[in-house]
Amino acid sequence: MQTSLADFIRDTPDGREADAILRKCVHCGFCTATCPTYLLLGDENDSPRGRIYLVKQLLEGAAVTASTRLHLDRCLTCRACETTCPSGVRYGRLADIGRKLVEERVARPFWERVRRRVLAEVLPRRMLFAPLLVLGQLARPLLPRRLAASVPAAAPAAGAWPAPRHPRRMLALAGCVQAALSPDINAAAARVLDRIGISLVEAKGAGCCGALRFHLNYQEDGIDDMRALIDSWWPHIEAGAEAIVMTASGCGVMVKEYGHLLRDDPIYAAKAERISAMTRDICEVIDAEFERLAPLLGKRSGRTAFHPPCSLQHGQAIRGVTERVLERAGFELTPVPDAHLCCGSAGTYSILQPELSERLRRNKLASLASGSPELILTANIGCQVHLQTGTAMSVKHWIVALEEQLQ
Ligand code: SF4
Ligand code: SF4
Repeated sequence: MQTSLADFIRDTPDGREADAILRKCVHCGFCTATCPTYLLLGDENDSPRGRIYLVKQLLEGAAVTASTRLHLDRCLTCRACETTCPSGVRYGRLADIGRKLVEERVARPFWERVRRRVLAEVLPRRMLFAPLLVLGQLARPLLPRRLAASVPAAAPAAGAWPAPRHPRRMLALAGCVQAALSPDINAAAARVLDRIGISLVEAKGAGCCGALRFHLNYQEDGIDDMRALIDSWWPHIEAGAEAIVMTASGCGVMVKEYGHLLRDDPIYAAKAERISAMTRDICEVIDAEFERLAPLLGKRSGRTAFHPPCSLQHGQAIRGVTERVLERAGFELTPVPDAHLCCGSAGTYSILQPELSERLRRNKLASLASGSPELILTANIGCQVHLQTGTAMSVKHWIVALEEQLQ
């Protein structure tokens, strides 16, 4: 695609990056076939190709309107289009650059700004989010049915976290919402890794990975969260932690991009690059260590549907690894049609775009149920909670289910 970027952006880092991405797009439209919003709405402006064109116009100096913002807001940032694109167009980065500019130029209505600010302030702060969640759970019986259904159930007990006792150590991210919604996930990961000779530790004071604020378009605040997390992790890395293990693929995809997002930061660039390079999804760790786990596996499990989050299969391009681990561990995986499509969770998307999110969840739950499973497993807290609030079937993180298989 030919480009002619406007003076205001051409010679900036964002401008150069966007230009390189735009020039790769040959406008073939293959990506439209796997874009969830295009499949639902049938509007070219709600497809990757249409959005690429909108961002191109914006970068070339065209007027920006609320309509441009709407079509970018409706994008889930699922990055299914990146998996499909034969030309390697990094749509996600282009969308980030476009959204930042649109946010600066088209003011949102007052209440929308308030709502986004509240989400950006509350969700990344566990000390605020956790008590509000408990309040919501207590008030559930008094809430209207639709609202009550959106409040996640009380968190399962985490169980004991094994004391660090192995020479091999890895770092886990306590994170923000996951620690309140499902503290059992990291605890289960710690117990499984402990059984195979790896101690998992959480850094004191480590907070949000930055994804929540970055994707709400408070990009500078998100970058500040990244710097704070690097500071919390760094002493552990210097002390010899061999990897950073992610149990939420939505955080994993963000941390793996630290090196790129902080590449021009004179203080953090080198640290960010090292942190991205040593970050692994928990499925990558278990897959690599599976031989040590195999003798510990006991009873076989029943029919199970696995939902691979977009942040895992598209964002991190990890496809088939969790499924391989589960099958080797004795889970009987059921076929899931359209497994490449988003479930509609997508960070705060389910709150900000409830109608589209609900349609995607309905479709996803129908696909997951089509093989008659007894259980649904996934790899990201957002997908887990979003799917669970729409079905009576149990939805869990796969590492929790794997731990239940151990003798
Ligand atoms: S993003 Fe890729 S698949 Fe989509 S139109 Fe451009 S080149 Fe084609
Ligand atoms: S990121 Fe997902 S929703 Fe957005 S354009 Fe790409 S495929 Fe469509």
